[in-house]
Amino acid sequence: MRVLKFGGTSVGSVEGLLNIKKIVSESEDQLIVVVSALSGVTNTLVEMTRMATAGDTGYEAMLPDLVKRHEDIINSVVPRESRLSCMKVVNTFVNESLTGSLGMLIANESLTPEWHDAIADAIVSHGEILSSAIVSLMLKNSKPHFAPAFIHTTDDDEGRVVDWDSTERHVLKEFVGDMTRVHVVQGFIAADSQTGVKTTLGRGGSDYTAAILAAILRADALEIWTDVDGFYDSDPRTHPEARLIERMTYEQAQRLCDNGAKVIYPPTIAPVAMRGIDVWVKNTFNLDAPGTLIAGHN
Ligand code: ASP
Ligand code: MG
Repeated sequence: MRVLKFGGTSVGSVEGLLNIKKIVSESEDQLIVVVSALSGVTNTLVEMTRMATAGDTGYEAMLPDLVKRHEDIINSVVPRESRLSCMKVVNTFVNESLTGSLGMLIANESLTPEWHDAIADAIVSHGEILSSAIVSLMLKNSKPHFAPAFIHTTDDDEGRVVDWDSTERHVLKEFVGDMTRVHVVQGFIAADSQTGVKTTLGRGGSDYTAAILAAILRADALEIWTDVDGFYDSDPRTHPEARLIERMTYEQAQRLCDNGAKVIYPPTIAPVAMRGIDVWVKNTFNLDAPGTLIAGHN
């Protein structure tokens, strides 16, 4: 079994989505496909949250664009017979759930900080809910899952952390013995293990969701599919002579991530390193590129 995580640019364009379909259909392995929100959507949701918190209803004018962005994608990648139900999911989540949550911020200046943050997390989680609906309907016969049912967080002295006990128990219950070949899961979104209130794993957290699943289910590999060929020895956007690193250790990858390499969300490495699971960084837009392999031995 392999866990494949696709980032915002991969799920945010027709080219990326069609390549996802190709990658998934050319494999015979059991796959868990973890998806980010369409590129830019989480930023938009964060901005809407800010506006609503400030009492600015200007976010309402942004909602039709959000629907349209998803609708255009749906019309290009979702099979004709599923388009209507996919649009219904998008419309219901945007016009009822998202609009309702934003309205709670507007109407309620006396919210406690805890409740404000809980509503804010519920708002930003819509990005992955919508993208996962598209990907699961695009990948025929795949099984959609709801990450907050099994990715669980708790608050300790350091802030919000993964509740590994609860997550392990629920992940095993969700996936073990299920022979479905292709599973689709939202990255980034979770729930508090005690209260069930929606939480998130932090910006960029979809990589972490994928690593948590890979570690608990002892996957054969974790693949982070993004829009660059892998890790480089310097930033290829500013250094044309930058060279792709084809192989590195977990320690080297962790160091690069901690030092600001944007390729992988830093907490992602530890859980897979502990279990010795190979991590591949691959380019959804350049399927022939070798990518970077991160493994325990060089
Ligand atoms: N959509 C979330 C973000 O933009 C999580 C992710 O993409 O990894 O931060
Ligand atoms: Mg990312």
